[in-house]
Amino acid sequence: MARARDPIADLRRIAFLLERANEATYRVRAFRSAAKALAGMSAAELTERAGNGTLTELPGVGDVTARCVAESLAGEEPVYLRRLVATEGSDLDAEATALRAALRGDCHTHSDWSDGGSPIEEMALAAVELGHEYLVLTDHSPRLTVARGLTAERLRRQLDHVAQVNAALPEGFRILTGIEVDILADGSLDQDDDLLARLDVVVGSVHSGLKDERSKMTRRMLKAVANPHLDILGHVTGRMVSSRPAGVTGPGDRGHRARTRAESDFDADAVFAACAEHDTAVEINSRPERQDPPKRLIRRALEAGCRFAINTDAHAPGQLDWQRFGCERAALCGVPADRVVNTWSAEQLVAWTHNRP
Ligand SMILES: [Zn+2]
Ligand SMILES: [Zn+2]
Repeated sequence: MARARDPIADLRRIAFLLERANEATYRVRAFRSAAKALAGMSAAELTERAGNGTLTELPGVGDVTARCVAESLAGEEPVYLRRLVATEGSDLDAEATALRAALRGDCHTHSDWSDGGSPIEEMALAAVELGHEYLVLTDHSPRLTVARGLTAERLRRQLDHVAQVNAALPEGFRILTGIEVDILADGSLDQDDDLLARLDVVVGSVHSGLKDERSKMTRRMLKAVANPHLDILGHVTGRMVSSRPAGVTGPGDRGHRARTRAESDFDADAVFAACAEHDTAVEINSRPERQDPPKRLIRRALEAGCRFAINTDAHAPGQLDWQRFGCERAALCGVPADRVVNTWSAEQLVAWTHNRP
């Protein structure tokens, strides 16, 4: 008889691949719920229930997921998983592949503390499985109420929670603390200075007034970039090139279904010159519906001497693998690995954020 596989791991792998492929939320949720429902069960009980067909009596377990579990227990790769694995895979050219291999972490991710779909622990485990050494948790700031932005008090509680989660994670990996802070209309940042100083990494993004006229938007961005707390300028133009992907629910800063959004208008050369001067990294946002900044602006930031961060802005575990999209665009623009801050170790990254001019 074939040796049994781990059915929970198979269910989680399927959910991950579905998220990565941008599948509808309900499909992903079926597998994540089933994995959660079965996680605490003994192997003996699982086997018994699979044998007498009572797995589906458990809340969160349906016919499809029960079949996957039965196949796993019989030592076979579940058919569902095999089909996903067979149909996935996009070929990156050599340079993009090398860049992706050089990345050691992700500096822009969300959990269910703001508008992400999964707990911090799930995001961290997926990052470990991807081979990351760190994950910067960057939930939203207070004024982004549609995305359940964290008040100063909730952020303080999150910092305590992250310390606990870190203690239980495998050695060689850690969650770094962070925020995606709103760049407010006057260019100030939407969180207390003492907290921003305490965080490992601060990503700052414009989420409101994206149609501000050019001089106003330029002033706003220049002021934010000059703020010593701001380490990375997030999704620089705010554009949306396609409708919100399936698998992402709720409002927030990701635009609405079937809607695209033009780039905001600002003096890119002035902003990138300021980023270079203040050593603020320019984010290459990997989300398929953002692809921000566009390639012509990546090239200009490169010429200006900026550093970059290739981030996923993941709102679910499977989206953590979207870095390859950002790497493809970065490689097409000739961004070298030594200009990308998340090719550094966690220690180097934090030393940089705390010692920037
Ligand atoms: Zn954002
Ligand atoms: Zn974000």
